[in-house]
Amino acid sequence: MIILRGGTLVTDRAFTGDLGIEGEKIALIADTIPAKPHDEIVDCTGCYVFPGGIDPHTHFAMTNALTTTADDYESGTKAALAGGTTTIINFVTPVAGEPDALHRAFERETEKAQNACCDYAFHMEILDDTDAILKEIQAMTELGVCSYKAYLAYAFRLSDDQIYRVMKAVKQAGGVLSAHCENGDLIQALTDELDQRKTLTPADHPSTRPAAVEAEAIHRFATIGRLCDYPIHVVHLSAAVSPFPRLSARRPASPDPMRSL
Ligand SMILES: [Zn+2]
Repeated sequence: MIILRGGTLVTDRAFTGDLGIEGEKIALIADTIPAKPHDEIVDCTGCYVFPGGIDPHTHFAMTNALTTTADDYESGTKAALAGGTTTIINFVTPVAGEPDALHRAFERETEKAQNACCDYAFHMEILDDTDAILKEIQAMTELGVCSYKAYLAYAFRLSDDQIYRVMKAVKQAGGVLSAHCENGDLIQALTDELDQRKTLTPADHPSTRPAAVEAEAIHRFATIGRLCDYPIHVVHLSAAVSPFPRLSARRPASPDPMRSL
């Protein structure tokens, strides 16, 4: 056993004690764990002992229509471990139109992840709603991919009817569907409009992506979720205009956020 001796253990509370590890599992937590001859003792006096963190949203070794990310699995997971994160869930980008797109993407990602230094899992991006892709979602879940991501913005965004079909397929597979929620059509219109008047710079980012385009997309994604009787998951939320609390507050009489809109 490895015994972490005398640290401040952080669980649902913080307290001083010993923690014993057998293999990769916590075997014992006690005020004092008596050491046996082959036990390894790590003096943690003055240190906090946390459970490993899980980062559920990483983009390592990702190339898509927009960019290539700076970190690969090795550098990204080393940085994660340095900060106490012991599991990451990375996004996998399929190639649009490729036969067996999700399986091929899964295989390529597994290869890329060979040099990962911490535990990892995958989210699969869904960039189309062909019958083949919807069938693959079921198979992906059996391979251990249980979360998916759709985009309501960017060139590879899905339309509402596509999201609806994907959501039903993910629900049937028992998975989680998350979405990048911004109104891609409006962003494009605002960007084009400004682009005709001036040279665009990074400073134009906020005005071409006002908070309303995010709030609208969240509302729309939530509406599809309501139709599918499915709990949605919104990733990288950035605007203070959160549609449900604000609209619910305006009409407190309605207990149902969708009915208050
Ligand atoms: Zn992201």
